[in-house]
Amino acid sequence: MQILLVGAGLSGAVMARELAVAGHRVTVLEARDHVAGNCHTERCPETGVLVHVYGPHIFHTDDAEVWDYVQRFARFMPYRHQVRATHAGRVYGLPVTLHTINQFFGRAFRPDEARAFIAETQADRSITDPQSFEEQALAMVGPALYEAFFKGYTEKQWGRSPTELPAAILKRLPLRFSYDDNYFFHRFQGIPEAGYTAMVAAMLDHPGIDLHLGTPFAPEHAARADHLFWSGPLDGYFGHRLGRLGYRTLDFERFTATGDWQGCAVMNYPDADCAFTRITEHKHFAPWERHAESVLYREYPRACGADDIPYYPVRLLHEKALLAEYERLAAAEQGVTFLGRLGTYRYLDMDVTIRAALDAARGFRAARR
Ligand code: UDP
Repeated sequence: MQILLVGAGLSGAVMARELAVAGHRVTVLEARDHVAGNCHTERCPETGVLVHVYGPHIFHTDDAEVWDYVQRFARFMPYRHQVRATHAGRVYGLPVTLHTINQFFGRAFRPDEARAFIAETQADRSITDPQSFEEQALAMVGPALYEAFFKGYTEKQWGRSPTELPAAILKRLPLRFSYDDNYFFHRFQGIPEAGYTAMVAAMLDHPGIDLHLGTPFAPEHAARADHLFWSGPLDGYFGHRLGRLGYRTLDFERFTATGDWQGCAVMNYPDADCAFTRITEHKHFAPWERHAESVLYREYPRACGADDIPYYPVRLLHEKALLAEYERLAAAEQGVTFLGRLGTYRYLDMDVTIRAALDAARGFRAARR
């Protein structure tokens, strides 16, 4: 079949690869001048640092097949993500671990003591079925830790009160009664030695794939295609005819420094009186490299306008209702498959994106046998 695929991010690249391997001819259109979407990495010509251009991306998964799959396209280097938080002029470990609890309360609890302390003196036991982010946090860690580490950060990140946000967002973060401060709990974790863009370029490097960068989709492109895969924004496909699905975008304030500026890859700033959410120091995402200079980003989230790059789907009640309407339109669309973070309007990690694309490719191939 002649396939047209819009978007050369992770979803699009995996799908293009799998279809090309199955013998289809795939034309990929990418509006930007690079592949890899928002996980694009680029070496800074002045400092030599590999920069995560659209913010930090750490690959982590429990899915052995996805882990094996990415190894085929990149050499992954061991990487263990550690995050710190500066709150009220002091530095704490994140996620909330036994160390954070002992630092914050000035104690020397062992695991069971900390567990009992949180359960008996902090957590709100009247909340049995937490619905909102705030309820989830109060039920899990109680008001003091919530206000120090989650409330301000979340208000800045999402532009809404945590009382309006779904509990699922907080479920991304662990609470550990040990000194394990690995930000993720997955079995496999790493970062491609040459960056994500090289990995995605390798996926797209196949004789059955014809890649066009700097080429926004236009309806005439679809005329000769037997099937269209769309990894751009779902509402954008329909010309936003029902309204716009809400996203958060990020502004990055880039700065450089000599040496090691903050000593870790990510320093969060959860306090409400600080306008940014975090500072990322990119050379720490490649601890196997050595650079005299450093590149850093201060991250400022805000509502995503029509000309901004969408990052995080908001998925509040209003968006969920609108999403359901767009999903109805999408289901009725013949010969089109929607995929990825933008095409399905979901807050997807990279491994989940790849898993979904592999499954969708298998489904597509099976349906045509
Ligand atoms: N979060 C928080 N304080 C922090 C870090 C995260 O309250 O110091 C909340 C915030 O609402 C955020 C969510 O947890 O959106 C998920 O955080 P994660 O680090 O997974 O966000 P990402 O790296 O995807 O931006």
